[in-house]
Amino acid sequence: MKIRDALAAQPAGQAVTVAGWVRTRRDSKGGFSFIEVNDGSCLPNIQAVVPASLPTYEADVLRLHTGASVEIDGTLAASQGKGQSVELQATAVRVLGFADPEAYPIQKQKTSLEHLRTIAHLRPRTNTFGAVARVRSALAGTVHQFFQSRGFVWLPTPIITASDCEGAGAMFQVTTLDLDKPARTQDGALDFNGDFFGRRAFLTVSGQLEAETHACALGDVYTFGPTFRAENSNTPRHLAEFWMIEPEMAFADLARDMAVAEAFVKALVDAALTRCAQELAFFEQRVQPGLTAMLRGVLEHDFVHLTYSDAVAQLAKAGRAWEFPVEWGKDLQTEHERYLTEEYCRKPVIVTDYPAGIKAFYMRMNDDGRTVRAMDVLVPKMGEIIGGSQREERIGILESRMRQSGLDPRNYWWYLDLRRFGSVPHAGFGLGFERVLQFITGLANIRDVIPFPRTPKSAEF
Ligand code: ATP
Ligand code: MN
Repeated sequence: MKIRDALAAQPAGQAVTVAGWVRTRRDSKGGFSFIEVNDGSCLPNIQAVVPASLPTYEADVLRLHTGASVEIDGTLAASQGKGQSVELQATAVRVLGFADPEAYPIQKQKTSLEHLRTIAHLRPRTNTFGAVARVRSALAGTVHQFFQSRGFVWLPTPIITASDCEGAGAMFQVTTLDLDKPARTQDGALDFNGDFFGRRAFLTVSGQLEAETHACALGDVYTFGPTFRAENSNTPRHLAEFWMIEPEMAFADLARDMAVAEAFVKALVDAALTRCAQELAFFEQRVQPGLTAMLRGVLEHDFVHLTYSDAVAQLAKAGRAWEFPVEWGKDLQTEHERYLTEEYCRKPVIVTDYPAGIKAFYMRMNDDGRTVRAMDVLVPKMGEIIGGSQREERIGILESRMRQSGLDPRNYWWYLDLRRFGSVPHAGFGLGFERVLQFITGLANIRDVIPFPRTPKSAEF
C-alpha cells in the first residue's frame, strides 16, 4: 500500500504492507525501534514500530540506515506520538537493499540545495525534491486540463527545426557532420549538403511559428514541450533546456490573449493550492514564509494592465538607482519588472505595447508605428513568466518587419502563406513552466524545479 493511503486509513486496524526508503531509525530502550519510511507518494513518512522480538531484528533491522529500502508488514494503529495520526506496528521487516551510512550522500542534517544539485540522482529522495516533483506532475496535468476543457487542441511541435524562429535565443545546432573534418564547399564554408537534413538544423527555441499553422486551421491550439536556448546566462531564472506552454488562438486579439494568460496563471496557482496543499505548506515553512498567502492573493485580484510607456514613466519616477538605466526603447530588466509587480502594483502585472525594436518581428504593429501588440506577464519574486502578443496578420507589414530584423522572407515562405491564404487575427503567448514552478514553490533557483537541469558547463545527469 502507498504510504499516502496508509496514513489516510480510517479507521486504523488494517493489516498492510508498505515499501519505501528509510529516513531515520531510532532504537528505544523499551525493546523497539522506530523506523521512519518514505515512499515518495506523499510528504510525510510513516513510522514503523518494530519490536526487538522480530527474528530479523538483530541481523537486519539494527543495520538499517538512512537510504536503505525495506518492505514492512504490519497493522495500522492510531499513533501515540505527536504529529502523526497513524503508525505501523510491524510484524515483519524485509530489507530490499542496505545503504552504507558512511557512503550515503544524503545525511539527516539539512543538506544545502547546492550540494543536492551535485547528486541529482538521489535528491528526489529528499522532502524538497519529492515535493517539487509531485507539484510539477500535478501542474502538468492542470496544463492539459485547463486547455482541453476549453477546447484547445494539443499540438506537439517539432524539437528539431530548420527555422531560426524569431531569434528568441541562441540555438543549439543539430548535426551529423564529422566535426573533425567536416565537408566544405569550394569557398571553404561548411557544406551542409552532406548534413543529415541537407541544411543547418537546430533544437527549437519556441514552437510558436508551427503553432500558428494549426491555430490558423483548428482555431485554438497549445503546445507543451521542451525548448532549448544556448544563452550563456548563468542566472537563477534561465535554463538551457526548459519546458514551455504556448497557446495560440485564431480570431483573437490581445485582450483575449491577456484574459487567457491571466486565467491560466490563476488555474495553475489554484491547482497547486488545492491539489498540493501539503507540499505548499512545506515550502511555506522551509522555503518562503508567506508563500500561500501570496498565492491566494494572486487568485483574489485582477492582474494590473500597464503599457510599456507608462511602466517606463513609473520606473523613471521611482527614484531608484537602477543597475540598468531606464529609457524608452530599452528592454525592461528583472529589477524593473520586480519593482513594477512587487512595489508599484503589488500584484501580477501585464505590460503591453512594447517598442517594436525590442520585440520579435511577428508581433502586430500598432497604429503609432513604433510599438507592437506585445504583452508580458510579470509576477512578484520572478519578473517575467509569460511573453506573448497579437501576431501580425498583414503580409506586407510582416515582410517588411522581417527585412528590418535581418531575416529573409523567402526562408519563412510557409509562415507567410498563413497570411497569403485566409489570414486572420490571432494571438498567443509562451509560459515558462519552470518559472511558474519557481513562483509557486518559492524556490529561488530554477535548477531546483527541473529534475535534471541543463545550464552552461553542466549536464552531468
Ligand atoms: P527572459 O527575458 O526572461 O530571458 P525571454 O523574453 O527571452 O525571457 P520569451 O522568448 O518571451 O523569453 O519566452 C517565453 C517564456 O519562456 C518567458 O516568459 C519565460 O517564462 C520562459 N523562458 C524564456 N527563456 C527561458 C530560459 N532560458 N529558461 C527558463 N525559462 C525561460
Ligand atoms: Mn519575453
